[in-house]
Amino acid sequence: MRFDDSKIEEIKSRVDIVELAGEYLTLKKAGRNYLGLCPFHQEKTPSFTVNREKQIFYCFGCGEGGNAITLLMKIADMSFPEAIRHLAEKTGVTLPVRTFGRGGDKDEKRDGIVGINLRAANWFAGNLSSPEGKAARDYLQARSLTEEVSRQFRLGYAPDRWRSLADHLEGGGLSLKLAEQAGLVVAGREEGFYDRFRGRLIFPIENVFGEVIAFGGRIIGRGEPKYLNSPESSVYTKGKNLYGLNRAREAIRQEGFCLIVEGYFDVISLWDAGISNVVATLGTALTREHLDLLRRYTKDVVALFDPDEAGRRALDRALELFLAANMRARALVLPDGSDPDEFVRKHGKEKMAALIAAAPTVSDYYIDNVLGDGKTFEENRDLLKTAMEFLEKIGDGLERNLFIKRISEKLGIDQALLKKEAYRKTSRTRPAQGRPGQTAQTSRSALEVNLIRLMLEYPQNILLVESEEIIDLFLDEQLKDLGAKMIQTYKLLGFIDLQVLLPTDADKPLKDMIYKLSIEAPPTDENMVGRNFADNIRRIKEKWFREKKRLLQHQLRQAQEDGDEKMIRELTFQKQDLIRQEKQLQ
Ligand SMILES: [Zn+2]
Repeated sequence: MRFDDSKIEEIKSRVDIVELAGEYLTLKKAGRNYLGLCPFHQEKTPSFTVNREKQIFYCFGCGEGGNAITLLMKIADMSFPEAIRHLAEKTGVTLPVRTFGRGGDKDEKRDGIVGINLRAANWFAGNLSSPEGKAARDYLQARSLTEEVSRQFRLGYAPDRWRSLADHLEGGGLSLKLAEQAGLVVAGREEGFYDRFRGRLIFPIENVFGEVIAFGGRIIGRGEPKYLNSPESSVYTKGKNLYGLNRAREAIRQEGFCLIVEGYFDVISLWDAGISNVVATLGTALTREHLDLLRRYTKDVVALFDPDEAGRRALDRALELFLAANMRARALVLPDGSDPDEFVRKHGKEKMAALIAAAPTVSDYYIDNVLGDGKTFEENRDLLKTAMEFLEKIGDGLERNLFIKRISEKLGIDQALLKKEAYRKTSRTRPAQGRPGQTAQTSRSALEVNLIRLMLEYPQNILLVESEEIIDLFLDEQLKDLGAKMIQTYKLLGFIDLQVLLPTDADKPLKDMIYKLSIEAPPTDENMVGRNFADNIRRIKEKWFREKKRLLQHQLRQAQEDGDEKMIRELTFQKQDLIRQEKQLQ
């Protein structure tokens, strides 16, 4: 099932791809385009290009590209209907009542879980201000958290009873089966379901859109475990969400970096103290997915580490991730092993901000605290070995050289020697760039490429292209194949995604070419789009006729040389037919 074309066009005409992309990553204006670091591959110089006039994006590094809808699908991991619904809401376009079909059941379930979570979050929040929530309120007060911040983070309370949320949901006509899928209730052995969270302060966990996808609960009073989290569900995956990110996005962009801490209270206390560019990993070690999520907003992070042995191991792991993700990371270690929550409550924002500002880069921290001090030659040799292993992980050349300089100072070894050794090692370990055997870009028909680009930018005209049967006249086999697939896909799905149509790397030169043309071509007046299509189609036809005539002429000459009368008659007839057809064009 697909959405009404006119609705999709309406949404597309209202949404701004630059603004949309700007919600996920930092863009800088560069001429007519906006440039940023690509969220889909690792890079140091921006090649992710967003063009407002054409409402398209393209990464010249990895070849990801498309329009606002495909961008949202990729960057927010949404299905096509999800992206349409999200954008419809954003742009105030009313969609007809939901259609079922492709992906419908999955969306239905997802919406169901998000909906029941919201219902539960509101109910938990209500409890916090009720008489029953007094102990939890006292607890928050003891931690000197303001009511305002607890409202902002939608904190709540789950009463210490077996069936209070379950009763509430059931009373509201909601399915406890669904509540179970959301992780809110647990199936009992005999009589139905009971509440997962009991006697706990509740922290709703939101995704970047502010949808409640899971909960965390801290015990109030006695009990184990101290913290309990929702299990994974179809909307929540551990290690893929950062607590507070939806609230921190703006501040991260303003401050230019993100602070990574561990727990709910770290985020909330820092926020309360006025430091809001902060997110928490929530009990899981930092993952690659976390960094991929963060990199959409910034490459600079300050990560909190404990000075103890476990903290060092965590640092070691995190360091590798940061280096692999090409992120600039600094290490924040608070005095006396206090956590940010304690520290900021005790010493205030200014002291905290000063510590953050003075946080050393993870490389420096590593050299000074993990590498330690070698006293003897043997110790130094071991250190050098460790340092070399570490060096191999540093992707950034500048950072690498700095690191080499620091090591040489520390160990008293000649810099040039270290460098030579380091580069010798890495040139061995790194795969060569570029692929041999890839054919050079052959010259393609500019007209055919241009029609493909127009189809990509203005898919609503694709049916016109189909009715003109113009793709059959393409002389370039690869473009012909692509054009046919575009028509097919558009009819099936209602949108075009070159990524899907051209899945292999080998086709990146073609994608590069199509998008480059799109981005560089002057903006098209909406009223001219139809005319552009018509012009392009006409010229492709003309070209096809020219080519056909040339071919016939050649065959005719051949037949005349051979004296093949029958063939001459046949070819002459074909030629006249061709000229007649061509005349009809004008
Ligand atoms: Zn890319």
